[in-house]
Amino acid sequence: MKSQDIRAKFLQFFKDKNHSIVPSAPMVLKNDPTLMFVNSGMAPFKEYFLGNAVPKNNRLTDSQKCLRVSGKHNDLEEVGYDTYHHTLFEMLGNWSFGDYFKKEAIAWAWELLTEEFGVDKDILYVTVFEGDEGDGIPMDQEAYDFWKELISEDRILMGNKKDNFWEMGDQGPCGPCSEIHVDIRSAEEKAEVPGKDLVNLDHPQVVEIWNLVFMQYNRKANGSLEALPNKHIDTGMGFERLCMVLQNVKSNYDTDVFTPIIREIETITDKEYIPLVGTSRGLSEKETEQEKINVAIRVISDHVRAVAFSIADGQLPSNTGAGYVIRRILRRAIRYSFTFLDQKEPFIYRLVDVLSKKMGDAFPELISQKQLIENVIKEEEASFLRTLDQGLLLLDGIIKSTSGDTVSGEKAFELYDTYGFPIDLTALILSEQELKLDETGFKEHLEKQKKRSRAASEMSTDDWTILFEDSVQEFIGYDTLEANVKIARYRKV
Ligand code: ATP
Ligand code: MG
Ligand code: MG
Ligand code: MG
Repeated sequence: MKSQDIRAKFLQFFKDKNHSIVPSAPMVLKNDPTLMFVNSGMAPFKEYFLGNAVPKNNRLTDSQKCLRVSGKHNDLEEVGYDTYHHTLFEMLGNWSFGDYFKKEAIAWAWELLTEEFGVDKDILYVTVFEGDEGDGIPMDQEAYDFWKELISEDRILMGNKKDNFWEMGDQGPCGPCSEIHVDIRSAEEKAEVPGKDLVNLDHPQVVEIWNLVFMQYNRKANGSLEALPNKHIDTGMGFERLCMVLQNVKSNYDTDVFTPIIREIETITDKEYIPLVGTSRGLSEKETEQEKINVAIRVISDHVRAVAFSIADGQLPSNTGAGYVIRRILRRAIRYSFTFLDQKEPFIYRLVDVLSKKMGDAFPELISQKQLIENVIKEEEASFLRTLDQGLLLLDGIIKSTSGDTVSGEKAFELYDTYGFPIDLTALILSEQELKLDETGFKEHLEKQKKRSRAASEMSTDDWTILFEDSVQEFIGYDTLEANVKIARYRKV
């Protein structure tokens, strides 16, 4: 099944259960001081859960563009190295605002996966909140009982507070959740570790696909919990992961969400993408070299999406706030293509064409903003490549003036700080010339500089990242005005 059809089928399934299909909210938030980018499906519905606004229909379904590159959810460093964390991804969701609860949410998730999509029950596992004595929250027996009607009990695993209890922040709605995991290991891989207790949810080929959150408590200012008068359902399923399962491949990058972009990268760069998924043995030298190319190709195909969607939403790369995050993502892609794909000229902008063809139906902003997206990416690429060129010359000078086998941390820092030359690239080039980098010295200078300017005005409070674009401010707490109304307070630093 094609990815377009998978998305449509999900939405239609819930539409048939009286949900209204709503479009994705913009990913870049302009008027929410507590969050830079939407990082989960629930973010745009926050006001409904807090009871500050009322939806037209108390059942909604959507596919929300999410970006997880800052604050509580920061997957950036994972991206490219594993095959199922992205910077930008779509979160499919169904929502109940004070309407249906656990029973229906669980039954429908199961029906959709196993009957509509035909996923084999024998590769599914679910988790249930085990309870937390210290916090006085009981185990989620209700969810357990609903699940055991559907799945054999040895496939229901207990999860702790970290994975199976969701909170919006220090206060507000919260509740236990149940997650659905898919074991995509091949029969041979399973045979390697026999036994029924083997299922290890941390195994890279056992992938979490769907999180069902049951909002049933309210956390009060004094930390205690009370039952919510209106209980809510918030679910989030990773669209690209679902496509991986349904298209019967081992990596999100092998789904049709990514393959057209990857083919285009191969054509332009004349490199091949040869994934080594599921290899538990060590890699040969040749495979290690290939894997660097694979990582680079995954990084670029992921990052071009994040950057393109952001620009389409009106967030251009810049030197502050959200714009700086976008610039860093794009520069990460450029660095990988420069180093591992030998790309010395702009080319990432050329991927926007395939991307907008592939995703334009679901996200028409990619078509209407295409020209702008291409121009902005191209200009950014050209300018950062010039930086890299200059940096290489400077580094050459530094190397020539180094007498021993170790390059000074201070010099490397200067290159990084003044010229924007990435430190990992410095380290790589030095190692190629059998030189060392004084990493301790570098870190010392970095620390000193961080203390000087607390430029990253970012502070994470659970699901909300406190951030201001123009002035650097520090979050200092909430003022409680009336019940349920919280005013965040900031001070300039
Ligand atoms: P993981 O444990 O894999 O990092 P999560 O528990 O952080 O996922 P949730 O916050 O529960 O994820 O989000 C709901 C769903 O969104 C997940 O079950 C997963 O399918 C998907 N998802 C989460 N993070 C990513 C990501 N970085 N890239 C792609 N899909 C993601
Ligand atoms: Mg995560
Ligand atoms: Mg998880
Ligand atoms: Mg989860």
